[in-house]
Amino acid sequence: MMAAVRRLGIYGGTFDPIHFGHLAIVEEARWYCQLDQILIVPAAAQPLKAGHLAAGHHRLEMVRLACANNPALIPSALELDRPPPSYTIDTLRICQERYGSGVELFLIVGADAAAELSRWREPDQIAQLARLVVVGRPGYTFDYEGLCATIPALRDRVIVIEGPKLAISSTDLRQRLATGRPVRYQLPDTVLAYLIRHQLYNTKG
Ligand code: ATP
Ligand code: MG
Repeated sequence: MMAAVRRLGIYGGTFDPIHFGHLAIVEEARWYCQLDQILIVPAAAQPLKAGHLAAGHHRLEMVRLACANNPALIPSALELDRPPPSYTIDTLRICQERYGSGVELFLIVGADAAAELSRWREPDQIAQLARLVVVGRPGYTFDYEGLCATIPALRDRVIVIEGPKLAISSTDLRQRLATGRPVRYQLPDTVLAYLIRHQLYNTKG
């Protein structure tokens, strides 16, 4: 029988496409917080973002390819299976229910996403259901006091990790792909082959 999952990471994003910046922070969070598993959850429609470029099933498939050689990383269709928009609080409630009362939830976000948390739906409830793991990202500084001032329930619920700080972003990768510049070594080869095969992001060259 599989050991029960006691410490579960939840990592949401648009993953349009998933890249080594994502995978490196998740690995750091897994190690630092001693997580048993991490769900990687592509959003159906991210309420704070304008439309996606790649369809949900493509983004999920790229997540699957990226996680294929790591049993601790679990691609999850939790949000793609629900009608949009995707709210993290709903995802946390579903996880709590599915994994039972013994599970501890750790919500993983980059420093840029952490700064926006007060604009998410029910941030106080998010803080009550999960601990927040904030991982550094180049170009962003994380203001713990500022965040706790707007979301008091977060106090003592935040774990800050400096992280490997890779300056990789999906926006930059999409622009590179559309203009024929290199992206290799910024994302898994399998993901690159997939997005070329399916002609995502107006890939040139
Ligand atoms: P986009 O440019 O389309 O916004 P992105 O690279 O920011 O893409 P997202 O899918 O928006 O990727 O990010 C999902 C989560 O991963 C967010 O919490 C974000 O802060 C975090 N993240 C993404 N890239 C990095 C990185 N290089 N370092 C640290 N955190 C990151
Ligand atoms: Mg982003």
